[in-house]
Amino acid sequence: MQTFANGYDFDYLSVMIQERTCLDCGSVIHGRADKKFCNDLCRNNYNNQLNSDSYNIIRNINNILKRNRRIMEELNPAGKTKTTRERMASKGFNFKYLTHKYDTQNGKTYHFCYEYGYLPLEGDEVLLVKREDKD
Ligand SMILES: [Zn+2]
Repeated sequence: MQTFANGYDFDYLSVMIQERTCLDCGSVIHGRADKKFCNDLCRNNYNNQLNSDSYNIIRNINNILKRNRRIMEELNPAGKTKTTRERMASKGFNFKYLTHKYDTQNGKTYHFCYEYGYLPLEGDEVLLVKREDKD
């Protein structure tokens, strides 16, 4: 076994550098660097899940959320601006999907997709905002 000057042997270092986990069950994988699964059972599980209906539902909703976020990012490069629901909708914004809401103390509700959000104003107008904090 090869030993390095600092006293660690090669196996210890390789574990520290590239501890990989199974894409299906998350267990630590030992063996070849390109190995992605513990065994064939985990590989089959993972591939079946990729093609399952529930996975497709999650993927489709994630895509809607990411598109909503991207549209608000495009329309709001400065971090705060006004636009209209019509303009957002024309770019493909889907108002049914958001990641969370934020209620202010004076009773306003912001609708967020990740760090970008909007506050409905009078009529068709909305205020676009960006949250800098991480909660
Ligand atoms: Zn596994």
